[in-house]
Parts: sequence; structure tokens; C-alpha cells
Amino acid sequence: MITLKEALKLNKDELAKFKDDLKIKIKANSKLNAYIDIKSAGDGIPIAIKDNIQVKGWAVTSGSNILQGYISPYNATVIQKMADAGLSPFGRTNMDEFAMGSTTESSFYGKTLNPHNSECVPGGSSGGSGAAVGAGLAIAALGSDTGGSIRQPAAFCGIVGMKPTYGRVSRYGLGAYASSLDQIGPMTQNVEDAAILYDIISGCDDKDSTNAKMDDKVTPNLNPNKKLKIAILPSYLENASQDIKDAYSKAIDALKSVGHEIVEKEMMDAKFDISAYYITATAEATTNLARYDGIRYGNRVTGSNLEDTFIKTRSNGFGDEVKRRILLGNFVLSSGYYEAYYVKAQKTRHIIKENFEKIFEDVDLILSPVAPTTANKFGEFKNPMDMYLSDIYTISVNLAGLPALSLPISKNADAMPVGLQFIAKAYDEQTLFDGSLSLETALKK
Ligand code: GLN
Repeated sequence: MITLKEALKLNKDELAKFKDDLKIKIKANSKLNAYIDIKSAGDGIPIAIKDNIQVKGWAVTSGSNILQGYISPYNATVIQKMADAGLSPFGRTNMDEFAMGSTTESSFYGKTLNPHNSECVPGGSSGGSGAAVGAGLAIAALGSDTGGSIRQPAAFCGIVGMKPTYGRVSRYGLGAYASSLDQIGPMTQNVEDAAILYDIISGCDDKDSTNAKMDDKVTPNLNPNKKLKIAILPSYLENASQDIKDAYSKAIDALKSVGHEIVEKEMMDAKFDISAYYITATAEATTNLARYDGIRYGNRVTGSNLEDTFIKTRSNGFGDEVKRRILLGNFVLSSGYYEAYYVKAQKTRHIIKENFEKIFEDVDLILSPVAPTTANKFGEFKNPMDMYLSDIYTISVNLAGLPALSLPISKNADAMPVGLQFIAKAYDEQTLFDGSLSLETALKK
């Protein structure tokens, strides 16, 4: 598959031919179920779009039954920015319903397969985007990351996935899961493409009040030769499998070989991240999903009166995982438990942020696992809690609002990709991309 950088040089005829071929290739690989729908919105370079990002005139459903029949009346800001740069939406990619999950198994459209092994999950919730790029069925894709949903499928599918600093990329037109954690980001074949796509979709937007009023770009200053001080987290790695530990050592050696300074640091116990995240995310999700009542959007099951219509629509339209989170979110926000759970989670979130800030007083980047294992087998998680626990390495980044980038490091004995992530200071995407490009280059040597 050509890279985004190469695609930017194609002329009109070459691009049209490329798109025709791509359509055929996607159809030939429909078993993967990476795409829900193949269609094109414009003449630009084709970019695959997660099914929770608004594209005018498209059915956009967040992988849910409740949004069947909804047609987006507008473009998300990222789609508009892409169009301005000559990129256009090409195909909707599969995802966990409302981006809740780590496997893409909870989609209304059925599961997506991992392109490296069809018995394994592609990760989630942006599993369709991960599989599309990993299988050579997309030049690049957009995903969204609330607690790891870009970085973890990127790691499982052997590609690059980047979660920007909270506020860097407009959330206008992103189907909301947990508004204080959500960010849209690029999923690409390499680090440079991620920087290019990040530059295109990021920047000022008056339509999102949490948007950072910053327009600086990383690509013009991309420098893999800058010597950085990088933190590694030996005790944090105890919960990771041997494959991940091996990749971690390999990455450290590669970083040292090109002159970066490595220092050991301690992170607080990740069990606090899980609690703070699943309370915050479900509380916000409950509030955000209240709008799906059968009246304003998509699917409706008409009941005997208005309340009955709400109940029937929501009971029929939402899947089990989404219902579980609505219940949990209502519970932690209810008057008797608000102080005990929600408020405590917010205090914990603050402590997690301070923990990162302390480490970043001394270093430029942190090197961390993305997931405790390589891609899981289908049905491997016996209960929801096991799945939630697999998010230990990604969710603190969202709680602290930081930028992070997951990149492929190696393959394990079963030829499954192993990815690791760099985490940077808030708004320091430049160092994040510089360090990532340096590691990517060093690994090729
Ligand atoms: N796996 C996490 C969850 O289910 C993260 C999902 C995401 O980032 N959208 O909430």
C-alpha cells in the first residue's frame, strides 16, 4: 500500500485509478469486516473513517442499532479540515458500539478480524480502522481514543496510532462517548504519515469550546536526531506478558543505540487508573447517551405512550455493553453514591495527572506498553471486568489529557505484532513525533 506521503503526490487520474483498485481490494477482503460500508465523499486521497465521525450525507451509526436510519446532516471539523487539504472520506470502519470496548466484538455489524490472525481480535474500539490499515486496505484512517481505542488496535494490527493532547483536535462531529477524554487521531502505516495526518486534522476550531487555540504544525520541524531523555517504567511492566517485556527491551536497546538517555521512573499503581477511568467514562457516557430516545435520532420502537417509546427504543437499540455502562454511570452519579464514587474518581484523576507532571519535570518522553498482551483471541475475555483490566496501560493518558503514540516494535513467535507507546507532555506533540520517528528509524537498522 502506498503511504499518505506518496499519495499526496498522485495526480487526478492516478488517484481515480488507485481508488477503483482499492474498492476491488476491499471487496475481495470483505471477510475481515474492517469496513461497514465503502463509499467516497469527494475526489481527494481516500481516508477510512471510524463510524462515529460525522460525514455529511453518510449513515453514521457509532456501530449501534439505535442509530440505524440516521443520516449525518453535517461534516465533523476533522472532515472539513481533511477536505481543505485534499483528503476525502472513503469508507466507514467498524467499531465497538459507541466506542465502548477493546475488541470490536460489540459492534451491531458483527466482529472484525485481525488481519494477522483471523482467530484474534483487531483490538478496539477502533478495530475496523486498525484492521483496514493493517491489512493494506487503507492508506490511513481516523479513529477515536477515549481510553486507548486508537493506540491498542494500532498495536494489535501492527500499525501506528496517535492520540493527541486533549483539545488539540476538535471533537465537533465526533459521536460523544466520554467528552472529557475523547480525542480523534490518525491511524497510519508509519510515524511520518501520522504526523502529516495529525497536522491536517488538528488546530483551532470555534465549534468546540474545549479546543486549544493553537495551530502549530509538527511536520515542518520533524527531527529524529534530537537527543532525548526517556523514562522507562520497570515495575509498571510486571503485569505485561513476556512478548511485551521482550519488545520493551528491544526498544530500549534501539533508543540507546542512537544516543537517547534512558532513566528509570515509577508510575503509581495502574489499578487506580482503572477505577477512576471506568467511573468517569461511564458517568459521562450515561449523560451523552441520554439523547438517543427514539425521537431525535435514528431508530424508534413506538410504544403505547412517550415514556414507553423511550423504554422500548433504548431497550431494543442499545447492546449489552452499552446498557451495562449506562447502568454503571447512573449508579456512580446517583445522589447517594456521587461523593463516594464520582467525586473520588475526579480527585484520583488529578493525582494521576500530577504523577505524570512529576515525571515530565525530568524527562521528555515516557516509554510504556500499550496492552498487557498481543491481540487476544475471540471470546478470551470471560467477563467485562477482564476486558476493563486490559486497558491498564492506555487509560491514564486520557485521564491526564496527554498525547501518546503507539508504534510497532516487533513480532512475537506467532508472528503477531507487538506495539509500544511513547507518552509526551501536554501539547508537546513535536517531541512525541520526533522520538517516535527516531525509534522507528533505529528499529530498521
Ligand atoms: N476500552 C476502553 C473502553 O471500553 C477504551 C475505549 C475507547 O478508547 N473508546 O472504555
